[in-house]
Amino acid sequence: EKEGEKTLRSPICCIMGHVDSGKTKLLDCIRSTTVQEGEAGGITQQISASYIPVEHIRERTKELKADAKLNVPGLLVIDTPGHEAFNNLRSRGSGLCDIAILVVDIMHGLKPQTIESINLLRMRKTEFIVALNKVDRLYGWKTCRNTPIGKAMKQQSKDVQREFDHRVTQIITQFKEQGLNTELYNKNKERGETYSIVPTSAISGEGIPELLLLLIQWAQKTMVKKLTYNSEVQCTVLEVKVIQGCGTTVDVVLVNGVLHEGDEIIGPIHTTIRSLTPHLMKELGGGAYKEIKAAQVIKITAQNLEHAVAGTALYVVKPDDDVEEIKELVMDDMRNVMSRIDKSGEGVYVHASTLGSLEALLKLLKTPPVSIPVCGIGIGPVHKKDVMKASVMREKKKEFATILAFDVKVAAEAQEFADNLGVKIFIADTIYHFLDQFKAYVDNLKE
Ligand code: GDP
Ligand code: MG
Repeated sequence: EKEGEKTLRSPICCIMGHVDSGKTKLLDCIRSTTVQEGEAGGITQQISASYIPVEHIRERTKELKADAKLNVPGLLVIDTPGHEAFNNLRSRGSGLCDIAILVVDIMHGLKPQTIESINLLRMRKTEFIVALNKVDRLYGWKTCRNTPIGKAMKQQSKDVQREFDHRVTQIITQFKEQGLNTELYNKNKERGETYSIVPTSAISGEGIPELLLLLIQWAQKTMVKKLTYNSEVQCTVLEVKVIQGCGTTVDVVLVNGVLHEGDEIIGPIHTTIRSLTPHLMKELGGGAYKEIKAAQVIKITAQNLEHAVAGTALYVVKPDDDVEEIKELVMDDMRNVMSRIDKSGEGVYVHASTLGSLEALLKLLKTPPVSIPVCGIGIGPVHKKDVMKASVMREKKKEFATILAFDVKVAAEAQEFADNLGVKIFIADTIYHFLDQFKAYVDNLKE
């Protein structure tokens, strides 16, 4: 069997970058939808995933006349709310994403969340391609709808090209300051060491053909082993949510293998899959499936999903499997995180939306010069009972009667309760906000 003939699964591609750089719009443009316009205040609230079939990609890239074979069935693109990039990249040690698109606004260059994204990608050793977005905002840009950027650039005036070159040079320098070599995709001769930049417009679609082709080609070229289809299920819970009429459901990323209706699954929960619905491009239609092959984002309904934990792995029980053994595996994951809690019993409470983000947070709170002890953790919204627990700290150390709520909701009654009890709740969506707020609070208490 030759490499190219192996059955490959779809690569999983995350879209990362600073808020407002155009992540959601870019995904809309790739799959021809208008989700971004329907968002409350333009802020992504939910994980949005799309499976782009290879036929669609072939159609979008046909002008490039790339004779390269596209061997993957499609591309699974995941757009993440606010800062959730953190959570979704984790999957039992290895990154969930095979490849990423790092979106940079050509008018603004690198911003704090771009740099945070770079650091995450580096930490996970995830390959990425830079989409230098909003080229249509260059003064005097001539729109060439859905055209390859190479062709569109030739249509532009000398002034536009000059401004473009100037901005690209500046941004390449900014990347260099972060220790990264980048180069425009068509000049990049050292792919692998030098990251490619593809100029795009998520509004008029210039550059999308090159971006798609590069993503697929790069994945096929460098990740054959990882992308080889495997019958062993590799699956991670992305989100646990209550849906009217369905009860509690979970959205999972199926990275490899197949899930079937009726499969017995174990996370921290133990249940049987009642129904499976993939997140698909609208035009492919909806509805439940009997079985779904990787890679896909899937909504699962089943009983007892309330206790599922976002960020943990989901295992499928096979006929010869020992259920208790699998449960142990799951608990190892949880215990790893639990072991970061201070044994002294003194410290703050930390809440996060997934096990992955919780783990990342706990690590950061322990990274010098920061040293904030943690005595309790929670995943999901902050409730009254959590405030109650944190309030115990008032007698010991007032500054620790604190809950750090990272990217989770705080129930109204919990906030009221906290105000009455003198428990401080910090709500933040970036870790850096937390550290600043918490430091100011402690300094203030000391005065
Ligand atoms: P996100 O926060 O990164 O998901 O950014 P959005 O996709 O919500 O986009 C932020 C704003 O920038 C919205 O008003 C978009 O319409 C706009 N936008 C995104 N991409 C482009 C682009 O390529 N060109 C222009 N002119 N505007 C864009
Ligand atoms: Mg968005």
